Amino acid sequence: MTSQSPDQPIIMPPSAARTTTLLANLAAVTSRITSATTKASLPTPPRLVAVSKLKPASDILALHDSPAGQVHFGENYTDELLAKSRLLPLTIKWHMIGGLQSNKCKALARDTRALWAVESVDSEKKASLLDKGWSERKPEVGGQEKLRVFVQVNTSGEESKSGVEPGEEVVALCRFIVTQCPRLRLQGLMTIGAIARSKATTPENENEDFLCLKEVRGRVNKELGLEGEAQLELSMGMSSDFEGAILQGTDEVRVGTTIFGDRPPKDQATVL
Ligand SMILES: *Cc1c(COP(=O)(O)O)cnc(C)c1O
Repeated sequence: MTSQSPDQPIIMPPSAARTTTLLANLAAVTSRITSATTKASLPTPPRLVAVSKLKPASDILALHDSPAGQVHFGENYTDELLAKSRLLPLTIKWHMIGGLQSNKCKALARDTRALWAVESVDSEKKASLLDKGWSERKPEVGGQEKLRVFVQVNTSGEESKSGVEPGEEVVALCRFIVTQCPRLRLQGLMTIGAIARSKATTPENENEDFLCLKEVRGRVNKELGLEGEAQLELSMGMSSDFEGAILQGTDEVRVGTTIFGDRPPKDQATVL
């Protein structure tokens, strides 16, 4: 049985061998998440976003239409996300986690089917454009009343990383979203962090980027008076450091390579 609707192009499932690999990889990640959650004494495991950028739609369908029923998928490129969202079932919850271009924000929010969250918001302008795009959505595109957004924070201070500087800038952007963007729901803060720190992350060695994001989260919650359900989530932890992120209390991890394997170069990636 498949959850594809009749008006969608038929996506062929991947080979049996590929499906087996994907399901085994997902099961391994899930079990590592469970162990880390127990070790950290967290009440619930974090949300797992399977990062499917540059991987074919058939891989995504194999994980979604399996007994594991993976629901959250993350993509980095607006055009690729748009194309995949049109091919795949509305029951998938899409996360845009890649760098945002202002000129694509409106279409991203307006046209992506079942868009669940945009995690890489780093300016007032982009937040406003997402807010505007969400107001122009047609009902058949799916999605809730509000679009969840995360503010991306550059916790490592590297020039190559996008995101807002931790500190007053993050507070100001969060305040702008809460007060000026009625169709957005400020869901949390996201960081990628430095690769060197990620590699050095062990249960004994806390990751400084994750510490920084936690501190900034505390500050924003306090300065904006966010309480209860409105308190901000943390989105941190990828293939090389997701267990460390769980031990530091993350609400969401974003795992790509460990589930899907190495990615092809961008010019060789195909959606179908
Ligand atoms: C690609 C990417 C990931 C996943 O990275 P892996 O190391 O493959 O797990 C997570 N978050 C962001 C923002 C990414 O761009």
